Amino acid sequence: MKNAPDPIRRLVHALTRLPGIGEKSAQRLSFFIVNADDYVATDLADALVDVRHNVGLCQVCGNLTQTPTCLICEDGRRDNRIICIVESVPTLYAVESTGEFKGLYHVLHGVLSPLDGIGPDQLNLKTLMSRLAEVDEIIVATNPSVEGEATAIYIQRLCSPLGIKVSRIASGVPMGSDLEYADQVTLARAFEGRREI
Ligand SMILES: [Zn+2]
Repeated sequence: MKNAPDPIRRLVHALTRLPGIGEKSAQRLSFFIVNADDYVATDLADALVDVRHNVGLCQVCGNLTQTPTCLICEDGRRDNRIICIVESVPTLYAVESTGEFKGLYHVLHGVLSPLDGIGPDQLNLKTLMSRLAEVDEIIVATNPSVEGEATAIYIQRLCSPLGIKVSRIASGVPMGSDLEYADQVTLARAFEGRREI
């Protein structure tokens, strides 16, 4: 790449910052963009700017949204007595794709991990507390990891004094795996088989 023009090297460098994109993939994408029709590059550039300027976090649940409140929170047909707690937006999308869950969500944007300096204050918990008055059941769908389990127990301790039933999705999703990548059937079964904690 030493002899490549500066704009190409800049693009390759920018692409290698993305997760899962190594030097070779970045070069392949860059050469593709250089050779493609004009609209491919302009569409991509516009989409990147658009997503940065026009997508934020739902002020209720922490989901990604274009408006102050996300489409799921706004949907009056959903059951607002039950909240599924997930650690990330991709997990919310994975649960949603099972079509089995009709309640609302709450996105923590992380899990408790004292070794990494992530405590309750680093998670999206403040708005959760303000939602609990209207809730009968919380389903904790954090990943099956040590941190995910610790987070589930923390939430259980927050909620049970308020008389809220707290359940954890069932095993079947192996320890150490990421719910984001679990298939829809496995995830739907994990929901059905949730157990109270
Ligand atoms: Zn929302």
